[in-house]
Amino acid sequence: MAKIEVVTDTYLVGIGVSPGISIGEINLLNQRTTVDDLPIMPDEVENELERFRWALEQAREELLEIKQTVSRKQHLREHLYILDTHLLILEDEMLIRETEKAIRGLSCSEGALKKTLLNLRQMFENIEDEYLRERRSDVDAIGERLMRILTGEQQRSISDIGQKALVVAHDLSPADTMQMDRERVLGFITDKGGQTSHTAILARALEIPAVVGLESISSLVYDRLPAVMDGTNGIVILNPSEETFKEYLKRKQAYDYLEKELHGFKDLPAITTDNERIALRGNLEMADEFPAARKHGTEGVGLYRTEFLFLGRSEAPSEEEQFEAYKEILAGMQPHPVTIRTLDIGGDKIVSHLNLEHEANPAMGLRAVRFSLREGGLFKTQLRAILRASVYGKVRLMFPMISGVAELRTCKRILRDVQDRLTQEGIDFDQDIEVGIMIETPSAVLLADFFAEEVDFFSIGTNDLIQYCLAVDRGNEHVAYLYDPLHPAILRAIKNICQAANERDVDVCLCGEMAGEPLYALVLLGLGLNELSMNPASIPRVKRVLRQVSRKDGVALVEKLLALKTVKEVSSCLDQEMRTRLPDIFDHALI
Ligand code: PEP
Ligand code: MG
Repeated sequence: MAKIEVVTDTYLVGIGVSPGISIGEINLLNQRTTVDDLPIMPDEVENELERFRWALEQAREELLEIKQTVSRKQHLREHLYILDTHLLILEDEMLIRETEKAIRGLSCSEGALKKTLLNLRQMFENIEDEYLRERRSDVDAIGERLMRILTGEQQRSISDIGQKALVVAHDLSPADTMQMDRERVLGFITDKGGQTSHTAILARALEIPAVVGLESISSLVYDRLPAVMDGTNGIVILNPSEETFKEYLKRKQAYDYLEKELHGFKDLPAITTDNERIALRGNLEMADEFPAARKHGTEGVGLYRTEFLFLGRSEAPSEEEQFEAYKEILAGMQPHPVTIRTLDIGGDKIVSHLNLEHEANPAMGLRAVRFSLREGGLFKTQLRAILRASVYGKVRLMFPMISGVAELRTCKRILRDVQDRLTQEGIDFDQDIEVGIMIETPSAVLLADFFAEEVDFFSIGTNDLIQYCLAVDRGNEHVAYLYDPLHPAILRAIKNICQAANERDVDVCLCGEMAGEPLYALVLLGLGLNELSMNPASIPRVKRVLRQVSRKDGVALVEKLLALKTVKEVSSCLDQEMRTRLPDIFDHALI
């Protein structure tokens, strides 16, 4: 295909899924495989069926080979399950049956496969569970592999990349991504993909900058085309002008410098200039995030979202499986505590095998503990698994979305039943396990003093607290302009919670996304927080701020902010204050 010259500074915006800046020449790995849906004669059916089965076998062999290579790489072993998923898709009854049916209906193998893949894709598009919906990328990856084998198209292997390059592909399967050599792949850019696709997860695990979802970049570029990419902001600039090149070189240096500097904070305590020690912990969903959390210096886990153990599978995990998962995380985080939150299912986290009914207002429906209390068996199984694991480290047990004292008491009663049962069975568990609640409903804020008498700790879930306090759906882009942590009502709410907790000597943590934003660190300090839990990569960034400010200054700042009546006023006052205090950080483009 003749290449079309790319205009200088062609600016493209996709989804930044793995941060960092890369500059280099493009290595075009693959483009969309185009196939013709040619009709066949009845006497060609057997031959086409053979061809299709041969392609399945070839794909299987390729995957097994990759699996063997990957299993030799220690840091990637935990991702082997992705290849197993692909091997399972190859055996999928529907994939095989539907394609063979279409071949018998006189389509060539490629055409038949194309139809089946379209149908499968449609099915995945209609799945409500976001995690499962994202698994359509695994089906696509298998589809591309089979198509390539059938069309005899030469696949450039990621392992063939000779020189350092920015890899561009129509799609990169997790299997391709796993084979990437960090030394040679400066970054990757794809037409397809989303934030939670396995490829994106792996990019973050490998710390390779990545921008996905650019739709048609693979048909626009060619080998050796110069480009710059920003995986933090999802930007790709093709054929950069000298000016752009210099600008990105500067940004890259600044980014790399910042990363190095931040790494230096890893083992330092988050201690303020007036000697207040703040605990910075990580929010974890999956074991994938484990190495990164440790690398960024997390002091344990402030929020373990256990519902992710239940997502993307056909049945609930058994007590044993949960026990193993909790034990692993506890042992890995020793001597730091791990706050395990019981299932927070419902709302936007739909688990297909739990057969949740469709609800008109899911965020206010059968969510979190409400669901656990209805599904007593499931709840008890989870509590048993957590308690059994509690002897392997320091667990703090947390109930989500508590809205009243009676509800908390019911949860605690069930917990006691489970504890009694374990005692009868002679099974060991931590008798002094700390029990706490998420404070994320307005009623819990208003009753914080009552709750403080019944629990060991609070964890403020600002993601939901903002949604419920301001009546703004956290996932609705039309009202997103109203969703703001600096809303005066939210600042007041956090202040009240901290006050109620501090007066009764109850620990209080904040584990919503707000905790990971460096701009808010001084405000949270001033509001009275001693513990913050966030996405692990934010830990050094927040720590850097905390080590340069004092609680006293935080308290003074909060006093000023609490007198302001609108988000805009609060936000510009805070902005101004932080730029003046820490210009190195807040006047910088890359924080
Ligand atoms: C929150 O609501 O702030 C929170 C941390 O929980 P989630 O985001 O899982 O609802
Ligand atoms: Mg929540």
